[in-house]
Amino acid sequence: MSIFILERGASDYMYDSAQHSSNWKKRRKRRQEKLWEDRVPIWHYVLNALLILLLMGMVLTALLEYIDYVGSLEQLEAKAGQLAFFETAPEIAASAAMAPAVTVAAASGSDKEAKTDIAEAFAVMENSAYTALGEIPLIVIDAGHGGEDSGCLWNGVMEKEVNLAIAKLVKEKLTGLGYRVVMTREDDSYVTLADRVRIANESGADLYISIHQNAYEDVRAEGIEVWYNEDKSEGDDKRLALLLGQQTVKATGAKEREFQSDSRMYGVINTTMPACLIETGFLSNKAEREKLVTAQYQEQIAQGITQGVSYYFEPKTMYLTFDDGPFRENTLQVLSVLRERNIKGTFFLVGEYVEKNPDIARQIVEEGHTIGIHCYRHDYHELYAGVDSYLADFEKARQIIFEVTGVETRMFRFPGGSINDFNRETRDQIIQDMTERGYIYYDWNASLEDAVNNPKPEQLIANALDTAMGRKKVILLAHDVVKTTGNCLDELLDYFPEYRMLPLTEEVEPIQF
Ligand SMILES: [Zn+2]
Repeated sequence: MSIFILERGASDYMYDSAQHSSNWKKRRKRRQEKLWEDRVPIWHYVLNALLILLLMGMVLTALLEYIDYVGSLEQLEAKAGQLAFFETAPEIAASAAMAPAVTVAAASGSDKEAKTDIAEAFAVMENSAYTALGEIPLIVIDAGHGGEDSGCLWNGVMEKEVNLAIAKLVKEKLTGLGYRVVMTREDDSYVTLADRVRIANESGADLYISIHQNAYEDVRAEGIEVWYNEDKSEGDDKRLALLLGQQTVKATGAKEREFQSDSRMYGVINTTMPACLIETGFLSNKAEREKLVTAQYQEQIAQGITQGVSYYFEPKTMYLTFDDGPFRENTLQVLSVLRERNIKGTFFLVGEYVEKNPDIARQIVEEGHTIGIHCYRHDYHELYAGVDSYLADFEKARQIIFEVTGVETRMFRFPGGSINDFNRETRDQIIQDMTERGYIYYDWNASLEDAVNNPKPEQLIANALDTAMGRKKVILLAHDVVKTTGNCLDELLDYFPEYRMLPLTEEVEPIQF
């Protein structure tokens, strides 16, 4: 069809040129002259070109801005998603509370206002607990054995299957809390020990947890056993082991067995991050084996492991406080336990003992602990006889403590606490006067109750556990003058792996009766 038209066009043209060749030449000349007259000036072309370029630039800029905007939306949504994950972790519920606002900002269209919202939301997030957490922790969960290696086998129950079932539940729970999880195996496959370690080390994991089942020739053996390597990191392996033991026992009611430190455990020793191996029960024990194969008991164990991991990354806070010192032998023992564990505490000093043991008072400060004023002479009757006698004693203590340590502290603790049997008449006025002078008093919400005659170590530990009641913030009262307190302090601290120990400072909101 098109060929036909073209052919006809060509023949028409030939016809025209034959008939009117001279006219055509004239017309052409005229047309050329006219064209010359009508010619658009060159600057016009340049201007047009510039305009086109400008237009293209504007379109391109708009496009790039749009891409950038969509990108920021995606980023924001991802961050909001991460925050939402954390909502289930009570420790950082405060930061998660922002998530809805952020999500709303991300969802609310493309106008300038929404963009401002997003910028603001980002600013808030940068200053939030979320960023304080840094990278989201990565945990390697290792289901022991697998494939041709069934682990221990009792009455048809294969260890590898129980291990995998629990490991999968732990993964699900940790992921639900917002943690990243890598599994060394997710099915019934055989993975060498070297490969398990390689997976952990190459993933840059923060924790490695290997899940196993126990067996013993004495079929009465039962309970949960956690293995770790004591020499590996500055106490983090042990803290992880203590947490997993503590929380799984709490979740299951199983018997807690001795914690085992053994450098022969291949995975535990060769991984570069804090690691431990948990034997969640004995397949050789009939009663425990029957529980271990149930979904309900596996769920309880997984819950315990997950809670342990949560506390590892988001511990509660405890302030260890020691009153009535410094005493030579006992205070030095307390200091040595704290030094060994790299823990800083707070000492409420008695002026007359600071006078007697100035070197120990100075050592307390030098080793990074904080100090507060207790009194000069620990005599309830004299102290609380009147406002004046209290203030005079306090001033004497303040002066000697400052002279010896160079520390001008505003923290103090009333002998016997702010409410006691001796200050009924005088306490209100004393508290008012002390507060006006700018001093802050710290009572406590947990106590070793070690200010009794011949306390037993296990009783002191039980008292501490009973009175701390698992609170999120604990100020624990102890006395460094009591010999038993120094003796059992190391063991006592093993009972509180879910706490991070911090020294009191004037910025810490006090606990007051
Ligand atoms: Zn005291």
